[in-house]
Amino acid sequence: ASKSCPGDPITFYNPNMESAARTRLLLESEMRKALECGQFSLHYQPQVNASTGDVTRMEALCRWQHAEFGFIPPDEFIPIAEESGLIAMLGDWVLAQVCRQIRTWLSEGVNCQRVAVNVSALQFFKSDFVEKVANTLKFYGVDGSFIELELTESIIMSDVNENISRLKSLKELGITLAIDDFGTGYSSLSYLKHLPIDTLKIEKSFVSQIAENAPDLAIIEAILALANRLDFDVVAEGVEEPAQLAFLQAKGCDFYQGYLYSRPLPALQAATCFTPHKTRISACPAL
Ligand code: C2E
Ligand code: MG
Ligand code: MG
Ligand code: MG
Repeated sequence: ASKSCPGDPITFYNPNMESAARTRLLLESEMRKALECGQFSLHYQPQVNASTGDVTRMEALCRWQHAEFGFIPPDEFIPIAEESGLIAMLGDWVLAQVCRQIRTWLSEGVNCQRVAVNVSALQFFKSDFVEKVANTLKFYGVDGSFIELELTESIIMSDVNENISRLKSLKELGITLAIDDFGTGYSSLSYLKHLPIDTLKIEKSFVSQIAENAPDLAIIEAILALANRLDFDVVAEGVEEPAQLAFLQAKGCDFYQGYLYSRPLPALQAATCFTPHKTRISACPAL
């Protein structure tokens, strides 16, 4: 360890800074390798219909299991992927993998109707984003209606005019659009009526506070009332307790995700969560 001496120039050097930068660089190069070696995988979390209990939708969540470092959570690697530009490659892989999975599930007769995919700002703002999405859907033969793209408020608000045309092009592919972590941004609500958004996802920090925090409860009620009037679907994130679900159901929330029903699961296990297709009952009780 170095000791500072009187007369030494004052620096803001801090050994933690160096190690943070080194970790970041290391993760970046490891991520590059991981993308090539297939160390990333996707987990799927059911989105449960809050009134019927049916599961026909999932959210895809990226997982990185590193041979040496173990599990690295997306909140750690997504920002690095964004800073390094690797997010483009990762995002392409995620969408392709989701399309492949949808094909598999459909061929197995699984009642999968939609998979939500997270999109980061850098991905969305690439000039060829829409074209890439269209090509991927076409390549896998997946109709756009099977895909929901989850965007954040900051993406949507950053250049509303430019975004509208991009969002409309995505809608033309049949894709539905969700705002993730709704309520955490600083955006004006008026954009909601101008943009072709289908779904609002209530950020889990509001949901977790339902029992203890009156303002959070009020925010959820307001979001649900607004969504109802403007005809958005609402998905509540992070539902862990029966009381939270009961509240959301009472207020007309459409879908929920959370550990109460299921954690995000590998595809094989997630497949068992889908509600079977409704079979037609041919017997007619009136005759
Ligand atoms: P998000 O899209 O808002 O995803 C919700 C997060 O909440 C997920 O964390 C999920 O595992 C977690 N979660 C679900 N239910 C519960 C619950 O009941 N309690 C609690 N405490 N947490 C719950 P995860 O998988 O760690 O992902 C974190 C974030 O990383 C995501 O937030 C998303 O912003 C980002 N992310 C994940 N996969 C991708 C991806 O493929 N692409 C991009 N661009 N971002 C991704
Ligand atoms: Mg999400
Ligand atoms: Mg979210
Ligand atoms: Mg989140």
